[in-house]
Amino acid sequence: MDFESKEAAYYFYREYARSVGFGITIKASRRSKRSGKFIDVKIACSRFGTKREKATAINPRSCPKTGCKAGLHMKRKEDEKWVIYNFVKEHNHEICPDDFYVSVRGKNKPAGALAIKKGLQLALEEEDLKLLLEHFMEMQDKQPGFFYAVDFDSDKRVRNVFWLDAKAKHDYCSFSDVVLFDTFYVRNGYRIPFAPFIGVSHHRQYVLLGCALIGEVSESTYSWLFRTWLKAVGGQAPGVMITDQDKLLSDIVVEVFPDVRHIFCLWSVLSKISEMLNPFVSQDDGFMESFGNCVASSWTDEHFERRWSNMIGKFELNENEWVQLLFRDRKKWVPHYFHGICLAGLSGPERSGSIASHFDKYMNSEATFKDFFELYMKFLQYRCDVEAKDDLEYQSKQPTLRSSLAFEKQLSLIYTDAAFKKFQAEVPGVVSCQLQKEREDGTTAIFRIEDFEERQNFFVALNNELLDACCSCHLFEYQGFLCKHAILVLQSADVSRVPSQYILKRWSKKGNNKEDKNDKCATIDNRMARFDDLCRRFVKLGVVASLSDEACKTALKLLEETVKHCVSMDNSSKFPSEPDKLMTGGSIGLENEGVLDCASKVSKKKKIQKKRKVYCGPEDATNRSEELRQETEQVSSRAPTFENCYIPQANMEEPELGSRATTLGVYYSTQQTNQGFPSISSIQNGYYGHPPTIQAMGNLHSIHERMSQYETQPSMQGAGQTGFRGSAIRGCYDIEETLHDMTMGSSQFQGSDSSHPSDHRLSN
Ligand SMILES: [Zn+2]
Ligand SMILES: [Zn+2]
Repeated sequence: MDFESKEAAYYFYREYARSVGFGITIKASRRSKRSGKFIDVKIACSRFGTKREKATAINPRSCPKTGCKAGLHMKRKEDEKWVIYNFVKEHNHEICPDDFYVSVRGKNKPAGALAIKKGLQLALEEEDLKLLLEHFMEMQDKQPGFFYAVDFDSDKRVRNVFWLDAKAKHDYCSFSDVVLFDTFYVRNGYRIPFAPFIGVSHHRQYVLLGCALIGEVSESTYSWLFRTWLKAVGGQAPGVMITDQDKLLSDIVVEVFPDVRHIFCLWSVLSKISEMLNPFVSQDDGFMESFGNCVASSWTDEHFERRWSNMIGKFELNENEWVQLLFRDRKKWVPHYFHGICLAGLSGPERSGSIASHFDKYMNSEATFKDFFELYMKFLQYRCDVEAKDDLEYQSKQPTLRSSLAFEKQLSLIYTDAAFKKFQAEVPGVVSCQLQKEREDGTTAIFRIEDFEERQNFFVALNNELLDACCSCHLFEYQGFLCKHAILVLQSADVSRVPSQYILKRWSKKGNNKEDKNDKCATIDNRMARFDDLCRRFVKLGVVASLSDEACKTALKLLEETVKHCVSMDNSSKFPSEPDKLMTGGSIGLENEGVLDCASKVSKKKKIQKKRKVYCGPEDATNRSEELRQETEQVSSRAPTFENCYIPQANMEEPELGSRATTLGVYYSTQQTNQGFPSISSIQNGYYGHPPTIQAMGNLHSIHERMSQYETQPSMQGAGQTGFRGSAIRGCYDIEETLHDMTMGSSQFQGSDSSHPSDHRLSN
């Protein structure tokens, strides 16, 4: 059996060790005297040898040594491939799966804790993480603006993962009025702890505004996640944030989004009742009915408070802490307090049938990550198709009216098809309602509506001045559409046009695209800012032009012409005036190779070589500089494969160090970017001279690629030095740790080793 690299062979054996359940360690390795490259590596069972460990307190990685001979010996052939030279299968001891985890998990942790799975390990296998990261890399390559972040615990285990694609960021600009952070799958113990940020499109479709896998429910997780998400969507907090009813979430929302209106999802409150109030209330004592009435039919503060107080008195719940908490937080979940907000269908008494439930059929509590991931990709594809269909449909079709109601005609011209239909469904019901004025109180009149269809009475409070029609059914607050009761009341008050506060821009055909001040073509005098601006607009173009083949072809044709036109413009006069910017910050790869002339490349290379020395260790700086230069060339010519990004920690040879440092630095930077912390901005400032770029692109991989092309690697290497450990995806981290002794005498490694805090969540 041949392996492309010793890493491949190592991983192969490592998987084997894991499946069998023994620890592994690099026992010996040898380099060629001539080339300096590795030619021989021995991996052994971690119980090889007889040396007794010293006190466990000093080195707790104390697999008892039994002189086990099991192991793998591999050699490099002439053709650079690796072959298994010798393989010993038998162990001379009992198999103890903890050995594996002990051996791959670094040295400085208490042995007892090592075997305990934590964070995302509980849900994901190493293969899963690899798949996920592979997806991230691929997306970064495809999409400028794809963004992801990985959160590590203090043992460098992956705890949480967050990602968001360019489309989501684009959608968020239009639908940031209300967002549901959905922890349903986490709370209900699904195997894959998927926690999406959900929005609603103007077509009343589920919109993914961010995805997370939550390995540990904790304050720091939510804090990290919300901050990361906020950063990823551009820093603008949503109008309303809906979450489960949960004290932890409550606290973090206040902390991270102090000005956001926080709402508890009604079904999460209702579903918690039996859990929280058992055994104080039982199924059949009428509590739920009483609770439902109190919540749904209260339409003044006093009304609600009186009913609540009666209810908890009757069921003797006055001392119940959860009930007290619910009352304290009433403005977050009792619809009566929702005046002036619209939850757009993201909350309601039942999850099934709600917009949030659209993803439910893609989830299965027992599904493995691979299943989940496949379905997730399918879902994205499906959503994309549906959206394209919806967008095309509204352009061509005008809905049929069902009544002579002026409101209906008015909204049919403004709303998208799906939104209009939802409103239209209310219209016929108006005739089965009868209204009666209960009383008048200054400018406000209270109407009682007898709804024969629903066999229930509702109350509408109409403010004659503002034309506010607040109904106790709260359809507008929950769904964003005037209910039949309010329509009837407004009609009876001779209101002929839908009051403006009831026409939501979010349902309009144009979407809720706010007048974007950035859309105006202002003069931007900084090249990086111009680049950012263009990228942002291209995402918009991508969204619109991908709707149909024809639109796409048109866009491509025009783009091609535009590119030609721009290339042919005389830009030469711009360059000499700002040579430094071009060298360090400007060349993030936005031109074609052809645009930069050879001279500038050569001079950059020289400059870079000078810089490199700064990063080299004190010893033998000149040689290293030469080595690194060669390596840079190697790296530059390499295709941006996943290997390049993910495996690099395993690239054990020194000449590869730069690539490791680079890629991991890049990778790690995202995380830092996400957290919004100083280190990344210094990197950005130092090397790109413009922080928003990386954020906007989030596209580390392609930056890396471009950086490689332009041979500005040293800057990224700088990043790599502080950050390469950040990629503590276990597979990577371990091998680096394991192989440390055998390969790395280099100053880079030690430097990074010592300079890096053990907790990768630098924010803390
Ligand atoms: Zn063994
Ligand atoms: Zn109503």
